[in-house]
Amino acid sequence: MAGIKYLFKHSFNGEQLKNNQLRKLNLKQQIVRELYQHSNLSIHNLSKTIHMSTPTITRALEELMQEGLVNEIGIGESTGGRRPSIYGLNPLSRFVIGIDLERYFIRMGVFNFANEPVSEIHELNTGLETQNDIIGFIAEKVSELMAAYSIDTSSILGIGISLPGLIDMRSGLSYTYLNTGKPVASMLSELTGLPVFVEHDTRAMAWGEKSFGLARDLKNVLCLNIGSGIGLSTILDGKIYMGHSGYAGEFGHIQIEPNGHLCHCGKIGCIETVASGKVMLTKARKDITEGAITLIRSVIGNDVARLNIRTILNAAREGDQYAIDLLARTGEALGKGLATLIHLFNPELIIIGGEMSKAADYLIAPIESNLNIYSIARIRRDASIVASELGDNARLMGTVALVMSKIFA
Ligand SMILES: [Zn+2]
Repeated sequence: MAGIKYLFKHSFNGEQLKNNQLRKLNLKQQIVRELYQHSNLSIHNLSKTIHMSTPTITRALEELMQEGLVNEIGIGESTGGRRPSIYGLNPLSRFVIGIDLERYFIRMGVFNFANEPVSEIHELNTGLETQNDIIGFIAEKVSELMAAYSIDTSSILGIGISLPGLIDMRSGLSYTYLNTGKPVASMLSELTGLPVFVEHDTRAMAWGEKSFGLARDLKNVLCLNIGSGIGLSTILDGKIYMGHSGYAGEFGHIQIEPNGHLCHCGKIGCIETVASGKVMLTKARKDITEGAITLIRSVIGNDVARLNIRTILNAAREGDQYAIDLLARTGEALGKGLATLIHLFNPELIIIGGEMSKAADYLIAPIESNLNIYSIARIRRDASIVASELGDNARLMGTVALVMSKIFA
């Protein structure tokens, strides 16, 4: 019921709504949810799933059409009598702003009620590590986007933000970034006047995969978000697992090398000290300085400061043996760590996402070979390992799914 205040903003103008008004809004919310999830439905379909009489559904639909949320979009097949009218959401009646906020970049998009981007995805080369007033910066970009596409505040359901680091989902406080003692969502909401919902970046990826990607219709899936760090989100029994405070999924900090290097978290030999993009970069810079033979050298003009993860992934795809070996070592460490998770969760699918998914082919084979070494064959056989089809867009699409889940809550 909570979502009706976002979906029917105009009905909440300060006055206390009566019970029958709330019931009607609740019914309209259910109709909108059915049409969002199943696209084209007849009054008969709606009446069956919502368990309300045909006249009640018809009246609510008429109001939704007057409000511009629903359109009659055609005539369906007859099941004996007259051919029924088919209804669908007006895709341009409501919008969601999705924001993928990362350490060094921001990706933003405006999505319509059919989850389609209204425009291209905007990629900005600045992020949490490089902007001082990142919330103010985002608020400015949001108003620029709304002006550019002539979208009114009243038709925006909300802003979804994907954020890395430790975030306490109960209080909304973020500890790694934007640690101001105030929830990130309220900071942005105050500046934009819009509802804001925040999700941890790896769980945003899981929202994306579960709603629009390869985890759709599956129940037990591990989503790995591999970029400069390593994140994990688990879909258990069809639900995205949070943990007590929302900290679940710090897979990158499982120890795999007891005599290994110091991790930025303060522990020794974490997976992230062996397998992350950040470690791959440090190693490549050192190796190239010391004379390693690789295509990368000419791409960066011998200047290791210009090296980034993308350069390594591109070199691997060109067949560069050095880059392929680098990725293989990352895959091996991931495979060793994933063996533990397979034993714990018995997943049917493991999705490799995040920036490194662009070179997933070079990660999957070493992951598989180490899974075969370190896990029990019978459990191992249940789990397929695939590259995300949404790739780097999974988190952004996930923020859209997150907002919609709040609208229909
Ligand atoms: Zn660590």
